Amino acid sequence: MLETYARLAEQALADEAPSADEALWLLDGDDVELLPLLQAAFEPRKKYFGRKVMVQVLNNVQNGLCPEDCGYCSQAKGSESGIRKYPIKSDEEILKEAEQAARAGASRYCLALSGRGPTIERTRKLANVIRQVKDRYPIEVCLTAGLIGDEHAEILAEAGLDRLNHNLNTSESHYEKICSTHSYADRLATIETAARHGLETCSGIIMGMGEASHDLVDVGFRLRELAVPSIPVNFLVPIDGNRVTSDGTLTPERCLRALAVMRLINPRAEIRAAGGREGHLRSLGALALWPANSLFVEGYLTTRGDAVSDTYRLIRDAGFEVEGNALYHAESPESASSFRLEGSESILKPDVVRNA
Ligand code: SF4
Repeated sequence: MLETYARLAEQALADEAPSADEALWLLDGDDVELLPLLQAAFEPRKKYFGRKVMVQVLNNVQNGLCPEDCGYCSQAKGSESGIRKYPIKSDEEILKEAEQAARAGASRYCLALSGRGPTIERTRKLANVIRQVKDRYPIEVCLTAGLIGDEHAEILAEAGLDRLNHNLNTSESHYEKICSTHSYADRLATIETAARHGLETCSGIIMGMGEASHDLVDVGFRLRELAVPSIPVNFLVPIDGNRVTSDGTLTPERCLRALAVMRLINPRAEIRAAGGREGHLRSLGALALWPANSLFVEGYLTTRGDAVSDTYRLIRDAGFEVEGNALYHAESPESASSFRLEGSESILKPDVVRNA
């Protein structure tokens, strides 16, 4: 059996994907061993990214008020999640938050806007603020703003945008259960348009939306065909009031198997353990670093996530290294090795401490 994992690693090192049947077996097989699978996924991860981990900060610069009906999204039309809606933040706020992200050591600052897609006028304004962020801070800038066309892509590429995100989310056949206001083809067209204009693309998935394993395999292969260099793997956070809430399939082991399969199908891509990693991977969170080379900090579009310090500690404790602005996230050797109990001032339990 161990030869199978060794062969999968060899194939990935040669940029060959497993067959669809084998990928399905890796997701569902009762006889699959998690640690050898993660080790197989680690080989290409190590080849292309070493033990480095990219850390990203997501800034939701416009929240809610969306006319689209993506069932997983608390900003969608029809969602009763009760989130605070706000129109686009000012340039000053966006710049201030970019500085905070750079100071926190993030290698990427991702601007996210709700909505079907920006107008040309809005795109020009975004381009202006992207230019300013890039002039001032040593940080890559990514944008996710819905569907875009040629003119949008040209403006953004000219402004120096590093990457445009638009997730496929799930397979083509499962897509209509998730959203009715735009199609899978619309999503594909946005990714292809961005790539045609020289923008790097970022496109990923959301697991736990009622999809079958073959849907995950389908979308993994579709991303490979598109040669997407950055793949966020999100684990659906069940938010009350959304139309699509978690389907109950996301055990920590399934999430890890999916990350490994995504890596084996897309050996060279940046694989991001993204939204929901904290709640779904739980105590196995650090194992995500064997297939994935990137984590988000301080939360996602509308949900909380681990703080910068906790994420850095998870990375270092597992023997990995934060990539990016080393100046900003140097840690003293004492704090790296110190014993810490969250939320407690004393190591001793209150009922064993002698009264003065
Ligand atoms: S994912 Fe984007 S387009 Fe879909 S509902 Fe949420 S904000 Fe709107």
